[in-house]
Amino acid sequence: MNKVIDILKLSNYDKFKCIADKCKFTCCEGWDIGIDGDTYNKWKEKNNKSDYIFNNIKIKNCKSKTEYFINKETHEACPFLDNQGLCKIVKSHGEEYLSLTCHMFPRIENIFEDKKELLLSCACPEVVELISSINGKINIISENNTNLKNNLLELKIRETLVNIVQQKNFSLEDKLIISFQMLLTILENESFREDNLLEELEKYKNGDYIRELIDMYHDVDLNINDSVEEINYLFLDIIQNYKEVSVLDILLKDISDFAENIKIRTLSAKWHDYKRLFEEYNKLIENCIVSKILSCCISSDIKEMIISFQLIILEYLLVRYAVFLKYCMNKNKEIDTQDIKDYIVAFSRIIGNNTEAVREFIIDGFGEAVLEIGYLCFITLF
Ligand code: SF4
Repeated sequence: MNKVIDILKLSNYDKFKCIADKCKFTCCEGWDIGIDGDTYNKWKEKNNKSDYIFNNIKIKNCKSKTEYFINKETHEACPFLDNQGLCKIVKSHGEEYLSLTCHMFPRIENIFEDKKELLLSCACPEVVELISSINGKINIISENNTNLKNNLLELKIRETLVNIVQQKNFSLEDKLIISFQMLLTILENESFREDNLLEELEKYKNGDYIRELIDMYHDVDLNINDSVEEINYLFLDIIQNYKEVSVLDILLKDISDFAENIKIRTLSAKWHDYKRLFEEYNKLIENCIVSKILSCCISSDIKEMIISFQLIILEYLLVRYAVFLKYCMNKNKEIDTQDIKDYIVAFSRIIGNNTEAVREFIIDGFGEAVLEIGYLCFITLF
């Protein structure tokens, strides 16, 4: 008998449509574009069709693995892009000839034992537009209403993360810290038996329990100048190599010049007014965060799951800070929704699509791949 496979789709999944040459954030620039082995072999078999393709491929041999990439520097545009912003491979051979990465983006498929989830990446501006048009909470919906229960523990943990982030009555920052704390507790008790783990997850369904944890973190006094100074350093360090990427320079150049030269105290004085205004955009940001949790927090290795979640927090903090710099530069002291959407795309690419590089950056700077909760509070809860 065939096993029933449930297909689940992110809200608005079917509405996605690439706007190709009308897109100001072409997906063909600003990262290393990998080519999967099957596509490489297919292109090899059809060599006569693919000469111009092989002239633009680089091969990396690392350890026992051979990896294939489109031959470009991270910041450069794809050599297959024509001057109208259209892909030469698609024009010559059709979409099905593309490598998996190019064919799929921004779609994401997560396959589990009895289900397939179809999600979308916030690294595409059209996806962020679709998410911003959702009125309520973003969701993942079963296509055939089978809605099988999450039997895998990692999916139960992910479900708890989503439930915490979608709780009412708490600030988004608090919910991110509490979620991170929950993952750390699970990591520290790796020997948890399944029933202990489920008991631990159950606690986070209780709003009073979450409130107690939040109060504990708010007992610590934070100096706003120190926190702003730290996030300013972090921001400048992380975007350092992305200011030259042409699809990102327009977003990063002005604010990074501003951040390099402004006095921290001048920035700190504007922070509280800004934060109040920024909270008005929580619905969009929360829905983007949930879509990232659904896509990325799926590892059965809890340490890997924490690292994925930590990157989601970092993306959030950098979006919040980049929009803050824009706000400080703006004479009217207003927030433009388009800035929020643009920085969500930018940091989804800088962090979410370069996870290995960011992981190394964190290890180099902090000695560990997982940040300390005290440090995260310091850069989040001020
Ligand atoms: S970023 Fe999105 S809309 Fe833009 S070209 Fe890529 S898939 Fe299309």
